Amino acid sequence: MEIKENEYTAGGISLLEIAETFGTPVYVYDGGKIIAQYKRLKKAFEPLNVKIKYACKALNNSAILKLLKSEGAGLDTVSINELLLGLRAGFPPNEIIFTPNCVSFAEIKEAVAHKVHINIDNISILEQFGAEYGNSIPCCIRLNPHILAGGNTKISTGHIDSKFGISIYQLRHVLRVIKTYNIKVNGLHMHTGSDILDAGVFLQGAEILFEAAKDFPDLDFIDFGSGFKVAYKEGDVTTDIEDLAAAITQRFQEFCKEYGRNLELWFEPGKFIVSESGYFLTKCNVIKQTTATVFVGINSGLNHLIRPMLYDAYHEIVNISNPTGKPRIYTVVGYICETDTFGWDRKLNEVHEGDIICFKNAGAYGFTMSSNYNARFRPAEVLIYKNQAHLIRKAENFEDLTRNEIEINL
Ligand SMILES: *Cc1c(COP(=O)(O)O)cnc(C)c1O
Repeated sequence: MEIKENEYTAGGISLLEIAETFGTPVYVYDGGKIIAQYKRLKKAFEPLNVKIKYACKALNNSAILKLLKSEGAGLDTVSINELLLGLRAGFPPNEIIFTPNCVSFAEIKEAVAHKVHINIDNISILEQFGAEYGNSIPCCIRLNPHILAGGNTKISTGHIDSKFGISIYQLRHVLRVIKTYNIKVNGLHMHTGSDILDAGVFLQGAEILFEAAKDFPDLDFIDFGSGFKVAYKEGDVTTDIEDLAAAITQRFQEFCKEYGRNLELWFEPGKFIVSESGYFLTKCNVIKQTTATVFVGINSGLNHLIRPMLYDAYHEIVNISNPTGKPRIYTVVGYICETDTFGWDRKLNEVHEGDIICFKNAGAYGFTMSSNYNARFRPAEVLIYKNQAHLIRKAENFEDLTRNEIEINL
């Protein structure tokens, strides 16, 4: 977001104009920023055969998927429907990896039928996979190296109590199953969670995977998942991609030499690719002065952006209607009948009822985590691309809300 002549813009388009044209609440994505993030990651790992499998659970609108496909990205999917969205957007099956957790074997069979890469994160499923396919269909194994990423256990998946992956300590059991069924393992995977701060943590996990790789002679790729941290507020520590890339590149090249073959290196970033591209535009319905604070009540809530309430996530909030207004302290809340506080004690330029309130970093896990709670509609989505704002999803209406209800006579 830039400010030019007292007007906030993204991708060269006025955000206020978008709010006027498409109404609020509305999610807005800057396509140029998405492409820039993708290219930055790709470039950082240039010396390697790196493949970026965009984790589409972060943001799965088909327009975004097509945009990333046109740049050469692949896709990381966690449900059969995400997989189908990927195919529908034109991704070839061999560019898609299916990394589900605790889904039925029937769902995995459906994914196999679509010829995508299968990532297995449970020994029970591995046994069923072996019994069903033997060595006719290769699979990737998701290992849990038990390294702790970041401090937030709600978004960390590598710790000992985590439900994700097969514990590295169960490797012997994994190898027994593989040998018994003659399973062909073409990839090893780890995804330690959503907040990796430094190259050290990544490399620690990498070493564990490299060590494990010695037991898997048929590998084509090693998939390091994601966990790239992005800045949500000024001064936040972020993953230094270039630093990380330099450290990993050298170590990965050494590993390939030891392994005897050049393997592909895969990453599955979600947040890193789309978070910063997104703006969530809402309107101030009411200003409510209480004995404790001044509330800014907006026309949205945890039904549209749940990260602040679910993860204590910080989203910067800006009053884009009053760029020169005097800064004042507010508590920004939603209209849902729950305590849906977006932020306490935020400094916003003086807010008037009707002003447009913008949430930054709303590209990842915003729309895709939205719901119909309180019988509210999910909002519209707009993509800014090549200096033009495109509506890429309509806001829901009352019909959408009642579509699947079945009337009975009472
Ligand atoms: C969620 C997820 C990702 C993406 O994580 P980000 O923090 O958004 O980059 C990657 N891989 C897997 C398996 C995931 O579940």
